[in-house]
Amino acid sequence: MKIKSGAQYMESLRRLRPVIYYKGERIHDVTRHPATVPHVRAASLTYALSTQEEYRDLATATSHLTGRTINRFTHVHQSPEDLIKKIKLLRVLGQKTGSCFQRCVGLDGINATYSVTYEIDQKHGTDYFERFKRWLTYIQEENLMVAGAMTDPKGDRSKGPEEQADPDQYVHVVERKADGIIVRGAKLHITGAVNSHEILAMPTVALGENARDYAVIFAVPIDAPGVTLIFGRQANDDRRDRGERIDAGTPSFGAVGGEAMVIFDDVFVPAERVFMDGQTEFSNPIVYRFAAHHRANYGACKTGLMDVLIGAVTYLAQVQGTARSSHVREKITEMIHLCETLYSSSVACSVEGWPTPSGAYMVDTMLANVCKQNVTRFHFEVARLAVDLAGGLLATLPSEHDLHHQEVGPLVRKYVRAVEGIPPEHRVKLMRLIEAMTGGTALVESMHGAGSPQAQRIMIFREGKLEEKIRLAKALLRIPRDGPP
Ligand code: SF4
Ligand code: FE
Repeated sequence: MKIKSGAQYMESLRRLRPVIYYKGERIHDVTRHPATVPHVRAASLTYALSTQEEYRDLATATSHLTGRTINRFTHVHQSPEDLIKKIKLLRVLGQKTGSCFQRCVGLDGINATYSVTYEIDQKHGTDYFERFKRWLTYIQEENLMVAGAMTDPKGDRSKGPEEQADPDQYVHVVERKADGIIVRGAKLHITGAVNSHEILAMPTVALGENARDYAVIFAVPIDAPGVTLIFGRQANDDRRDRGERIDAGTPSFGAVGGEAMVIFDDVFVPAERVFMDGQTEFSNPIVYRFAAHHRANYGACKTGLMDVLIGAVTYLAQVQGTARSSHVREKITEMIHLCETLYSSSVACSVEGWPTPSGAYMVDTMLANVCKQNVTRFHFEVARLAVDLAGGLLATLPSEHDLHHQEVGPLVRKYVRAVEGIPPEHRVKLMRLIEAMTGGTALVESMHGAGSPQAQRIMIFREGKLEEKIRLAKALLRIPRDGPP
């Protein structure tokens, strides 16, 4: 692993020259810009943890390609134990950042592409798997952060990629050359894109035979010519951009992942970085496997966030003098219950992992979809209870400028002070943290990240084994198995 520490990761980002826009201006250094540095810091913990004895077993793995120690975020899962370690690692990182640390998307892209390229080669005699292994070895050796890029803009959703008035609504190959391909289009909502080293792009929907040019998987450095990144706005970003350390929620990290629109404007991809080109029948497995891996993660990273939120609410109750009240204890109990229920499904889909023909392990896809579906409800319920317990001051609290103001500062302190002996700043900081973790962009991520709820429901229905369940009912009722439906 060439990049060993969080500091080295930041240093490596400073050597890249990506084109990044934010609020109409270029960002030249993501490690120093106030909009991006919180996300850089969160991602840097994926490096830092691997150097700490306490977390080394979770944060590193042995590469099945080289036998060397690598960062787990570049590893192809070789067993259910690997899947479990990943889940545990994500929860720890969620606890330490209170935010999205972004690197899992690339990890999931790596795992999905690994198993799918193997199967493409088995069927078509291509050499995508060997190309991918060479690229992955480079990623592992260098310890690079990869942004998984799946979601296309999709244009008119009643039409497929090849039927769009604007063919660029889905990333596609515009030209094939002897030494590579040229791609055009965009990927939206790409987590961690501006502070990754590489982008791994995959199709976002199952494709028909007429959509060959859209069936493309490839990797490019984030500063490849023709790649433009447009960093999205988030709730509270003005507070953060002005350097407000209390009002932004937390002094070091963001509340969400830091997403960007990634535009490929006739980007040349050398052949050795093309991992699928035209094999439309494999677009469904790549989407399905990537989505399942990422959905499995949500019961871990989000429970890490909920741990922080539950801790904040519990301490706030102590600060406000409500900790002994039975309804407060009851609501905190409910928050813990929902949080641990989510975690159980992440663990369950990992324990039930299965080997693909390539040897890479997949999570149980039904349980992974159930996990993410529950996140879209339970995280909201946990947030609702947190807001309930925090009280109305959450919405009316004066700013940190007033808190620190020479004249009104003492008055703000006097009237936000609650239980004797606890500094009023603690209450203010807790309120701001809870505000950041329950409002604005944070919960949208839980709803739509890793796919919107309906995407999970489609898969849950599809994998529901209804025929088998009908047979069970028929058997109990002694209705002939092959009788009328
Ligand atoms: Fe990882 Fe969670 Fe962020 Fe997805 S939302 S990248 S699983 S931390
Ligand atoms: Fe996400």
